[in-house]
Amino acid sequence: MVSSQSRIGIIGAGTSGVYLAILLIQQGFQVDLFEKAPHPRTDGCGILIVQAGMQALHQGNPEITEKIINSGDRVKLFEFRNLRGGVINSEPVTYEEHELPGMLVHRKAILEALLDKLPPECIHFNAELASIAQTEHSAIVHFKDGRKWEGDLLIGADGIVSKVRQYIVPGVELFYLGDIVWRGIVEDHSFCPEGNFFVYVRGRGIYANFFHIGGGRTHWGFFIEKERTDSETGKLQPNNIAFLTKVRYNNSSE
Ligand SMILES: Cc1cc2nc3c(=O)[nH]c(=O)nc-3n(C[C@H](O)[C@H](O)[C@H](O)COP(=O)(O)OP(=O)(O)OC[C@H]3O[C@@H](n4cnc5c(N)ncnc54)[C@H](O)[C@@H]3O)c2cc1C
Repeated sequence: MVSSQSRIGIIGAGTSGVYLAILLIQQGFQVDLFEKAPHPRTDGCGILIVQAGMQALHQGNPEITEKIINSGDRVKLFEFRNLRGGVINSEPVTYEEHELPGMLVHRKAILEALLDKLPPECIHFNAELASIAQTEHSAIVHFKDGRKWEGDLLIGADGIVSKVRQYIVPGVELFYLGDIVWRGIVEDHSFCPEGNFFVYVRGRGIYANFFHIGGGRTHWGFFIEKERTDSETGKLQPNNIAFLTKVRYNNSSE
């Protein structure tokens, strides 16, 4: 049973970990957030935050969405083009008064807007998870630099190669789908106007996208998606589903 006095540890200060920490602190929990990097990892490129994502952030704290709105571009147009620039489909986006927009923004601006709302004493850098143990009443974490944390609940927000997951669901292997992506940001004031999201489609899983992210910058991305054989379809499923089902069943029957 998790009470509001509970001490909660979160591994990973990416966007998920930081936002979750904010929400839990607002509910009165004692939260410690551990990040292996020596500082917030604000690198990355452009991100499209769809309206539902903005609404979810707004519910947590309207100041977060306000900062994001001031840092990027409101989505104004989605346009699909062929390689000669001919328009295949064009979808202007309009908003009602007071409606939250979808946003085109640098990942750094999202993380910084979130970090602004996190009490700095909650976040611990250079804290790379080494091991996890569990007693009847607590979770215990050891970090690579020798630090130790003990609390009531531990949450893994440590990304796609999660070490926490290895303890909860051992044996899950990542499966490379064969897709290749190049991304970057350029200064641009003319090719991609403010709020525009262009997709150039060649067909058969080859396409490029460009979107303006505010401040005279355009995000670009080139994508090659590998065709999948029937035997590859569905491989993203963890290979020990039976184990997960058993855990859920055991918990619900308690
Ligand atoms: C540096 C970076 C740049 C990215 N750039 C883009 C982008 O431009 N566009 C895009 O669409 N997506 C990008 N992503 C991916 C995107 O942020 C995530 O896929 C998505 O937001 C999910 O976020 P997350 O918080 O769950 O995981 P992540 O954003 O991956 O964050 C996980 C955090 O956990 C930390 N961590 C991992 N292992 C440990 C450990 N053992 N101990 C302690 N801490 C640990 C990592 O350093 C990281 O800060 C990027 C991710 C990162 C880390």
